[in-house]
Amino acid sequence: MRRIIIASNNAHKVEEISQMMKGLDHEFVTLREAGIDSDPVEDADSFEGNARIKARAAFEKSGGVAVIADDSGLIVDALDGEPGVYSSRYAGKDATDAQNNELLLRNLNDVELKDRRARFVCTMCLIDESGDEMICEGKVEGVIGFKEQGEGGFGYDPLFYPDEYEGKLSFSEVSAEEKNRISHRARALSAIKSRLLLDR
Ligand code: IMP
Repeated sequence: MRRIIIASNNAHKVEEISQMMKGLDHEFVTLREAGIDSDPVEDADSFEGNARIKARAAFEKSGGVAVIADDSGLIVDALDGEPGVYSSRYAGKDATDAQNNELLLRNLNDVELKDRRARFVCTMCLIDESGDEMICEGKVEGVIGFKEQGEGGFGYDPLFYPDEYEGKLSFSEVSAEEKNRISHRARALSAIKSRLLLDR
């Protein structure tokens, strides 16, 4: 069975990616399961650049095993695209999700609903056994609400209201399966999935 390493240290993302890859007869393993210690500095100025940094760093230590890595974040129009590539450290280097969400709400304090447009973006990078690379992007459009709603998901999910639910539900209020149906990560992964199916 073909082995593919999910090059992320974020347990939530690994879980989402594993769920979405169910049904493919590949063995998906985490960095830890593959015995790889990889946490490179993500200093590119784009999601694509950072996804590539993570995938390459893990691939170099993998001994020729295929790798997928993603880089993702939230783009808010009223904040000129912030937090963007700084999404995980918006409120500081070791910021918690709660601190990032609080800062986001504060920075949008005076902004009315029609100007709270935002999107999650995900760029996925697959490096196959021979070192060839494939890059795919996915997006989900929505608005940033005025308060956190829901318990599920992670990161900015409680503040993000995807257009699919007409402003009524945040990403934290839907099931993991439902989020995985429409999320930026699912959309980026679907092209990678097709490629993995073709490779067989
Ligand atoms: P990365 O691990 O460098 O890709 O950083 C991604 C950051 O973007 C996360 O720490 C979250 O703050 C945010 N983010 C990305 N995807 C999601 C999502 O699906 N829900 C909520 N927040 C997300």
